[in-house]
Amino acid sequence: MAGQMGQPVLILPEGAFRSTGRDAMKANISAAKFVGEVVRTTLGPKGMDKMLVDDLGDITITNDGATIVDNMKVEHPAAKMMVEIAKTQDKEAGDGTTTVVVLASSLLDQSEKLLNNGIHPTVIIRGYTMAAAQAQKILEKIARKVTLDDKEILEKIAVTAMTGKGSEAAKTELRNLCVTAVTSVAVKENGKVKVNQDDIQIVKKIGKSMAESELIEGVIIEKETLNIEMPKTIKNAKIALLDAALEVKKTETDAKISIKDPSQMQKFLEQEENALKNMVDIVKKSGAKVLFCQKGIDDVAQYYLAKDEILAVRRVKKSDMEKLSKATDAKIVSSIKDLSSDDLGSAGVIEQVKIAGDELVLVKECKNPKAVALLLRGGTEHVVDELERAVKDAVGGVVSALETGKYVVGAGALETELSLQLENYAKTVGGREQLAISAFAEALEIIPKTLAESAGLDAIDTIVSLKEKHAKGNDGIDFGVDVMNKKIANMYEQNVVEPLKIKTQAISSATEAVEMILRIDDVVASAKKSMPPMPPGGGYGGGMGGMGGMGGMGME
Ligand code: ADP
Ligand code: MG
Repeated sequence: MAGQMGQPVLILPEGAFRSTGRDAMKANISAAKFVGEVVRTTLGPKGMDKMLVDDLGDITITNDGATIVDNMKVEHPAAKMMVEIAKTQDKEAGDGTTTVVVLASSLLDQSEKLLNNGIHPTVIIRGYTMAAAQAQKILEKIARKVTLDDKEILEKIAVTAMTGKGSEAAKTELRNLCVTAVTSVAVKENGKVKVNQDDIQIVKKIGKSMAESELIEGVIIEKETLNIEMPKTIKNAKIALLDAALEVKKTETDAKISIKDPSQMQKFLEQEENALKNMVDIVKKSGAKVLFCQKGIDDVAQYYLAKDEILAVRRVKKSDMEKLSKATDAKIVSSIKDLSSDDLGSAGVIEQVKIAGDELVLVKECKNPKAVALLLRGGTEHVVDELERAVKDAVGGVVSALETGKYVVGAGALETELSLQLENYAKTVGGREQLAISAFAEALEIIPKTLAESAGLDAIDTIVSLKEKHAKGNDGIDFGVDVMNKKIANMYEQNVVEPLKIKTQAISSATEAVEMILRIDDVVASAKKSMPPMPPGGGYGGGMGGMGGMGGMGME
């Protein structure tokens, strides 16, 4: 497209949008910071909730960072990075989603100040990288050890994760359920604790109160039994798991059986019935009192099973079959002929119940179950939904503490200590990077500051007194914001403890995202969607459609 002299060379398609240098960076920073500002007020047990209304008018009331940012449906690419780090945090650490977004937002806020003072982005990036690396070293040193036997500490970790999530009323009951669930399914591999969270089934049903939630040492099958004649409850049940149909193979549709007279028809049906009865006999002979079948069960077979007082469920999900196998120690048999007593598993109680209008089969009281279930209860759908999020955080927290074997003191104690130690480290570094490391240290203070504000305390005064305590060393390093009692206190003694992984992950994710945003000095957007001008001062409200349809971002 060689332009004639004096005519502009057209590189971008007509209508495309481009912003470069400072403008691009400022826009990105304010978009990302916006997300942080929205979730900031939800941080901590005294944090507020957000009511989210989606385009269909469905309402979610939550305090959970990941849920909020996910529901904000942000369009701006820099803001989307904040959504991504919240998701990564959830996946890697199981909790701390608000923390990571707030931290990233605070780091961006500090970078803005440095940029305004003429510090080049590459210097900021270098300083932040050094600070993050040093922070990880400090964290390893400060963290305390925890093992599978430390039930008390694990319960404290569960409670800290749940606090402020609307499950307060039932935290005594719930902490025990969560810790027992995790320690039941935990396995040790080469001295390390491993937990597959899929082994903890979570089922929520409306009704009763949160405190009446239950841990089922086994599996919940969300299906009904086949025949009203079947037993409703079986104690000390032997269980068969079958991955084959209890049906007589139907002839192919185009194959013909020619039946010449009625007696032949009768014989044919008898044969089919006998085949089914034989199958049921095999189940009976194995000693099974309960049959979970992944495939279908013919009506005639159902009749015989009921007659033999066998409780049977058909078309059980594959994932549930696997859980049943883990919980009851039964082998999944894929051919009925092969079923024998050796394949059976057992459970203390199997019962068919109706909860909140749904038929369920509870496989309970298994010995040493390697799969368990949490049956969550609560008055309304919103209550059970928020309870589920709280329980997931608690379970995630306990798992992550066990997997890394370490935990730290929360309530801003850790962040204050880190900030102080990084400040000292900055002095040893010198140069312009020192400024960035100091800024990083200051950014960490956002956590205790926000907690203080949420409790109605003065943020600055609180930080000053916290730093004084921490500077004295000894037990001063456990001082944080006691939001319940509106003062600073030794938060280890107040049982506010969290898995180390939440902090290490939050710092590395937040730093990475911020550095990525600071590397962008050119935004090129294709003209697919209309581009309303961005509001001044970075007011990216409602949908953030301003930069929709991003064609590409210059990232060097
Ligand atoms: P996140 O999504 O980041 O986990 P939360 O709303 O769960 O956000 O808040 C977590 C913060 O609240 C952590 O810094 C944690 O240490 C702090 N916290 C939890 N319980 C207490 C408490 N009882 N007192 C003070 N701070 C607490
Ligand atoms: Mg939390």
